[in-house]
Parts: sequence; structure tokens; C-alpha cells
Amino acid sequence: MELVQKAPAKINLSLDALYRHQDGEHEWRMVMTAVDLADYVHIQPAATIQVTTDSGFLPEDPRNLAYQAAKALARAAGVTAGARIHIEKHIPVAAGLGGGSSDAAAVLRGLNDLWGLGYSKDKLAAIGLTVDSDVPFCVYSQTALVRGRGEVVQPLGPMPNCWVVLAKPRVSVSTPSILNAIDYSQPLPRPDTGMVIEGIARRDFAQMASGMCNSLEQVTASRHPEITELKHRFLKYGATVAQMSGSGPTVFALCEQQSRAARVYNSMKGFCHEVYLVRPLG
Ligand code: ATP
Repeated sequence: MELVQKAPAKINLSLDALYRHQDGEHEWRMVMTAVDLADYVHIQPAATIQVTTDSGFLPEDPRNLAYQAAKALARAAGVTAGARIHIEKHIPVAAGLGGGSSDAAAVLRGLNDLWGLGYSKDKLAAIGLTVDSDVPFCVYSQTALVRGRGEVVQPLGPMPNCWVVLAKPRVSVSTPSILNAIDYSQPLPRPDTGMVIEGIARRDFAQMASGMCNSLEQVTASRHPEITELKHRFLKYGATVAQMSGSGPTVFALCEQQSRAARVYNSMKGFCHEVYLVRPLG
């Protein structure tokens, strides 16, 4: 018996970093959506928890977020069984696309079925928060406002009709090092989150796009100028909006028309070694 769970990448339509808590964690307000670029997580019954991947770069031990999710769920449910977990990796690693968190969330959903736990998504999200702040969002994997340390996930309904072009430059970014570099004593560029939410509610692409911004973009771009370069290219080739996702370095562009998105995608392929044309999920 094998279960297969799809683990989609996420992008941040808006990311507002509000303040640092005393324990060093951050207070977020961000609108996120899932896109149709996904890992596939294969799960089979086994006596112990084992993780393998088809990627040469990822740990296959307790450092893997999928392993940590399985352990956290087993502990919470008092389960002594294990599982053989194989991750078919398609989402670029350390890219700001939440791949590890999405794998962890897929493991929670899959083991919830395999072990017959019947846990709600809310309960799986609470367990997932102990693994990483993006896991609760990934448990639902639908357009949502995410607040707090990642634990408050409010679904927003489907995105306005649009296409997404992702460009991942060669650099990898360490999320902790970017988060440590946020200087809250200086004003950060901020999204108009209300505008993004209203645009989604009205399915108004232009309104949604007008409120978008990622507060972390200048932090990461000051270390990796190729982010600003990609952004300018996206806009030059006709994207409506271009923005870094998460802590980077992936930059994504949104286009309302498929023909425009295809043109932007083809133009970008000459300048960036990893480019994807995808749609928001749902
Ligand atoms: P973040 O959610 O912090 O924005 P990201 O999308 O930038 O993350 P990931 O691809 O999730 O980046 O990888 C972040 C780190 O997590 C990497 O250093 C990687 O080695 C580690 N990691 C552990 N397990 C996984 C996994 N299953 N998939 C990807 N990365 C993983």
C-alpha cells in the first residue's frame, strides 16, 4: 500500500514583518497562495520512520522537515508505528518557495490517513507549527492570510484569474540569516495587505496586484543584486507585478493573460537557469 500526497510550492503575495518577539521569532502578516509546482511525497507503512529523496542535496535523517513532521505527529498521537517516506523533489530548495514546509505538511496529511487518526486540518496545523512556521499554511495549501508566528491561517477564497512565472537564480538563501538581518528600527517597505485581501475577495487582479510588496525583499536583494535584476527584467518583458517570494531568492511575476505570461516566461529563460510557468492552485 502506498499513499501519494502532492506538496505544492507557496508564494507570498504580500509579506509584512511587524516586529520581533522577545524569543527572537517574528510577527507576520502575509497573504500566501499555493501554485502548481509540487513535490510528491510517497508514504508506505514501516516499523520505523525513514526518509529518502531523489535530490542529492537534502538530508535523509532527522534534519529533514518531513522526518520531523512524522516524529511530531507520532508523538502527539502516541503512535509507535513508523513509515517509509520518499520525497520526489521538484520545488527548488532554499528558494523561498516553502518546499520543506510543504513536504512536512504532506507527511502530516498522509500519515493522518495511514495511521487512521482522523485529525482535523486545524490539529495537523498546530502540530506542524512545531516543525516550521510555514507548515500550518501548507497543511491547507489554499490562498490565505497568515498571521502571528504562522499559526493563524484564514482562507481567503480563490485567486483572481492569473498566471505565475517563477525565476530562481543560482544562489541559495538561508532563511535564518535573512530574518536575523531585519532591522526593525528602520522603516521597512510594507504591503497594503487590506488591498490584496479585497482584490482577492472581488477577484480583481489589478486591485490585488496594487497592494503587493515583500518587506524582506530589500534585505535579501542587498546581498544578492540578481534579485533586483530579475525583477526589472520581468517588468520590462510585460509582467504586471514582480516580487521576491518569502526570504528569497526566487522572484515571481503575475500576468492576467496566458499569452502575456508565455511571452514573459520565454523571455526570462535566456537570463535565468530555472524558470517555471505555473498557475495558482484552486
Ligand atoms: P522557508 O520556508 O524557510 O522560506 P525555503 O522555501 O526557502 O524555506 P526549503 O526548500 O524549505 O527553503 O529549505 C530550507 C532548508 O530546509 C534547507 O536548508 C534544506 O536543507 C532544509 N530541508 C529539510 N528538509 C527539507 C525538505 N524536505 N525539502 C527542502 N528542504 C529541506
